[in-house]
Amino acid sequence: MNAPTGEQPLLDITGLRIDLAGGRTVLHAVSYAVRPGQSLGLVGESGSGKSMSLKAVLRMLPSGARTEGGITFDGHSVTGMNPRELRAFRAGQVAMIPQDPRAAANPVRTVGDFLTEVLVRARGGRRRQAVDQAIRHLADVGIADGELRLRQHPHQLSGGLLQRVMIAAALAAGPRLLLADEPTTALDVTTQQEVMAILDEQRRRHHLAMVLVTHDLDLAVAVTDDIAVMYAGTIVELAPSKGLHHTARHPYTAGLLRSRPAIGTRARPISLPGRPLSAFEAGPGCVFADRCAFAQERCRTERPRLETHGTHLVACHRAAELAANGRLLETTP
Ligand code: SF4
Repeated sequence: MNAPTGEQPLLDITGLRIDLAGGRTVLHAVSYAVRPGQSLGLVGESGSGKSMSLKAVLRMLPSGARTEGGITFDGHSVTGMNPRELRAFRAGQVAMIPQDPRAAANPVRTVGDFLTEVLVRARGGRRRQAVDQAIRHLADVGIADGELRLRQHPHQLSGGLLQRVMIAAALAAGPRLLLADEPTTALDVTTQQEVMAILDEQRRRHHLAMVLVTHDLDLAVAVTDDIAVMYAGTIVELAPSKGLHHTARHPYTAGLLRSRPAIGTRARPISLPGRPLSAFEAGPGCVFADRCAFAQERCRTERPRLETHGTHLVACHRAAELAANGRLLETTP
C-alpha cells in the first residue's frame, strides 16, 4: 500500500459485518485501515456496500441494524463509545462531506448562520469571532467574497459553491478524519474537478485521513493513495491507486477499468455482463462468479480470501495465474 508509514491507523475496521433489520446482510467481514494523512477510495457499483462502513463509523446505521467486528478510531472502540464519547467523536474528530450539499443545507438559514453555529459549537467563543473565522475558512476553500456569501441562503449559491461551504464547515471543527460519500456526484464535470481539487488540497494541508466513497474509479485513482474495490458487500481488491490501470489483479477491478468511458474518444464503454449481486444474495463461492469470464468450478463453491499478491490484496482463486499470463487486462469478459 502507499500509506504513509510509521504511524498507527487512525481508523481501523476489522471484519465488519452488517445485518439490517430482518436479517439482510449488507457487508461481509470488511477490513481496512487509514492512517493520518492517508486517503483511501472505496469503489464499486451501487449496492456494493461502499457507504455502509461509513455509516457504521458514525454509528448512523438504520434502526435495527446489527454489526459484528471492530471499528477503532485512534485505538478507541467506536462501537464501545458511550453517548457522551460518541457526541464528542462526531463533533470534533470526524467530519462527513455530504453527497448532495443542497439536500444537506437548511434552505431557510443563511450560510453565515450555519457556519458560525458550527464554529461556536466546535470552538466556543462569540459569534463575532466566529464570523471572522468563517470568512477565513471560506477563503481556504477558494471563496474570496466570504462576507457576501455569509449573508446568502443556499439557493443563492451554485452547487459547487455550496459544496465548498460544506467542506469549510466540515473542516471548521478541526477533524482528523474525513468521510466523503460521493461528494461530487451532484455537480457538473468541471465543478467536480474543482471541488475535488480543493478537498484534496485541504486534506493534504491538514494531514487528514480520508475515506472517499465513489463509483468513479478514475477519480479515486487521481486523488487517493489506495483503493478498495468492493463487490456484493466484500472487498475484492485493495491496492495502491498509482498504476492501478495497469496492475489490477481481480477480474472485477479489470472489468470496471474496461467499462469506464474512454476519455477523449467516442468509443462506447464496454459494460460488465450480468447484474451486480447484492450482499445478501451471496452464496458460498466467489461473489463475482456469475459475472466472471474466468470462473471455474472451485469458484462456485469456495469463497476466496483476500491474500497478498505483491502490493495488492486480492480475493480471487486465480489471481496469481491470471497476472502471470497477462490475460486479465487484455481479455474482454
Ligand atoms: S475466484 Fe474465480 S470467479 Fe472469482 S474472480 Fe477469481 S476467477 Fe473469477
